[in-house]
Amino acid sequence: MTTTPENADSSTPEHQTSDSTTPELQGLDLTDATARAQAHAQLTERIEELRAAYYQDSLLVSDAEYDELVHSLEDLEAQFPELVTDSSPTQTVGGVVDTSTFDPVEHIGPMYSLDNVFDYEELRAWYERVRSATSVKSKFLCELKIDGLAVNLLYRNGELVRAATRGDGRIGEDITANVRTISDIPHHLDTEHPPAEVEIRGEVFFPVEDFAELNASLVAEGKAPFANPRNSAAGSLRQKDPAVTARRPLHMLVHGIAVWTKADDSHPEPAHQSEVYEQFRSWGLPISDYFKVLDTVDEIEDFISYYGEHRHDVTHEIDGIVIKIDDIAVQETMGYTSRAPRWATAFKYPPEEVTTKLIDIQVQVGRTGRVTPFAVMEPVTVAGSTVERATLHNGYEVRRKGVLIGDTVTLRKAGDVIPEVLGPVAALRDGSEHEFVMPTHCPSCGTELGEQKEGDKDLRCPNSRSCPAQLANRIFYLASRAAFDIEALGEEAALALTAPAEPDTPPLTSEAFLFDLTPEDLGDVKIWRNKKSKGVETGERELVPYFYTRGTAKKPSAPSANTKKLFDELEKAKDQDLWRVLVALSIRHVGPTAARTLAAKFRTLEAIREASLEELSAVESIGPTIAQSIRDWFEIDWHVEIVETWAAAGVRMEDDEVEAAAQTLEGLTIVATGSLSSFTRDGIKEAILGAGGKAAGSVSKKTDYVVAGENAGSKLEKAESLGVPVLDEDQFRVLLETGSLD
Ligand code: NAD
Repeated sequence: MTTTPENADSSTPEHQTSDSTTPELQGLDLTDATARAQAHAQLTERIEELRAAYYQDSLLVSDAEYDELVHSLEDLEAQFPELVTDSSPTQTVGGVVDTSTFDPVEHIGPMYSLDNVFDYEELRAWYERVRSATSVKSKFLCELKIDGLAVNLLYRNGELVRAATRGDGRIGEDITANVRTISDIPHHLDTEHPPAEVEIRGEVFFPVEDFAELNASLVAEGKAPFANPRNSAAGSLRQKDPAVTARRPLHMLVHGIAVWTKADDSHPEPAHQSEVYEQFRSWGLPISDYFKVLDTVDEIEDFISYYGEHRHDVTHEIDGIVIKIDDIAVQETMGYTSRAPRWATAFKYPPEEVTTKLIDIQVQVGRTGRVTPFAVMEPVTVAGSTVERATLHNGYEVRRKGVLIGDTVTLRKAGDVIPEVLGPVAALRDGSEHEFVMPTHCPSCGTELGEQKEGDKDLRCPNSRSCPAQLANRIFYLASRAAFDIEALGEEAALALTAPAEPDTPPLTSEAFLFDLTPEDLGDVKIWRNKKSKGVETGERELVPYFYTRGTAKKPSAPSANTKKLFDELEKAKDQDLWRVLVALSIRHVGPTAARTLAAKFRTLEAIREASLEELSAVESIGPTIAQSIRDWFEIDWHVEIVETWAAAGVRMEDDEVEAAAQTLEGLTIVATGSLSSFTRDGIKEAILGAGGKAAGSVSKKTDYVVAGENAGSKLEKAESLGVPVLDEDQFRVLLETGSLD
């Protein structure tokens, strides 16, 4: 919460040293007036420096780091209110006016920032405070906080006459020519009775989905890319040449009004913020579809939580939820501090975007030989987990993103989504950064890399059969839950089997011989491990047996418990269903879904091998690409050798007729969404497919049922809007068991 002089506790605490809540203040001797004045001055200087950079469209730190500094300053001022001055960043609207590029313009009504709350406790305290501030119990208008650039539009007699950035809240930059290029913004208000004068405030933003494209084109022109979509909105709008702005897909949403001088009394003045929005809509101004007027704090929390989960269903970035008192008379009674309205606050979501150092770009070789560069970064916490690696997909993508080794980069991890490097913080470059060069030869086996077909963005290692990296990845994959399900054969074991430190000849040179392995083959396999002393790493490395115990004078080295488990599981794997064997073969495009379909149709591996291209393509949901891939796979000798060697080792390559499950869901298309208590995501798909149904990924009119678990989101909404029946988990079980819901 922003602490203003009005609500700060004015008593000076006596013991204020290292127990301060914010890291910047920890360890400072706050009983010393000079030390705290110095801390205040330093924090202020740093915040001003970051603000100056940010509002000139270059980012030096992430918003989360900036917010933390402001929090420290608020914390300090709350404890020592005598430090608060009119010019403190806690009292001012941070912004710049670049008079070398733009004419300064004075807003008619001041433009404000917003106070913040960061959790539900702070929200409830704010709610109680505003509720008790006036006798009128207003409702609250909740809306998305658009992470863009604040812009003020001035209309006189319905004509757009000026547009300006927020600047310091009083003086902004004249960007009228640039704003006129944004098609969302009407040049005339659509009304016969326009106000004589009105200022309309809103946010200009850059759609998230266009961001990567913009950066790629900037890089292609040899220009520095933007760090994030907000930055690109500001950079695109604050251009000297409006023609550049015109080429960028900027949009605007409006959310505020000031100095409304009415032309006549033909219309009653809106009494609520929500009515103002209706007025905006009728004038042809772009308003957000996502606002709601709510009453209780529980409802507000639900709104916040809902959009916390659906942040990415909207075209623009959202950094929080704005909660405004809906009743304009109450807004007027409560008024403003020097920086923000007292009748509104912003609930800020935890950051999904951070900055970190890109230490290196390395490459890895995958199961199919695809060579993928990935970012190695200083570990950083983002969206609740520590991230130090992120894929960069291919050399082409690295160039498109314009990141250099040594750059500070912005990194995003949206919810449980895979971390993504967005772009470099170009302002922090010092010349020591260097470009990544995609290798020409496989880092694992040294074979020259090439494209699979002309024009491919990916490079591949063609040595599929014996490239150790590809083999290790195939073995790890065939042991996965979606294939043979051999728990004791993880990533490290796969590497130990195919590329151990010792002996020179690995136990496995092809997956063909996996089932022929014996414990004796693994006795001398060693790998490098970090040395530990009493459970703590010493920093040294040592060569240790992987599959066997170390052995002592009394107890000779023997297969470890995990190795015994490995052989037990290998034995069981021989009896797995045909579809799992198919998945284990690593045939391109043949994952569990296609494998199940093929197994159900052909029943034996021999039949699949014998099937013609036409027969394969004729199978529903297989199609020509998968069919061709299967045919191609069986053309290769060493692939056939795998099948034959596995069969000779006793792997069952057919399904028993009797095993076929009751086809209770035959002909039904079912979509599962949300988290279910007794099915995993894959588990429910398997259940649907196994019972003859179709497991679809998205809801359409053709969907027969949607199975919705907890936190089901947009798919559930779509089902409801299309009238598709929604089942809970129990109802689905009934359908699965009996084929009907009766
Ligand atoms: P703010 O972004 O926290 O909130 C105020 C602004 O929100 C308003 O001026 C308004 O334009 C905008 N807004 C968006 N949607 C709105 C809606 N629906 N209704 C009303 N207003 C809405 O405050 P600020 O003063 O603009 O900027 C401070 C923030 O900017 C920081 O919290 C930080 O995220 C970022 N910042 C970052 C750095 C950095 O170095 N990374 C530096 C300065 C500021």
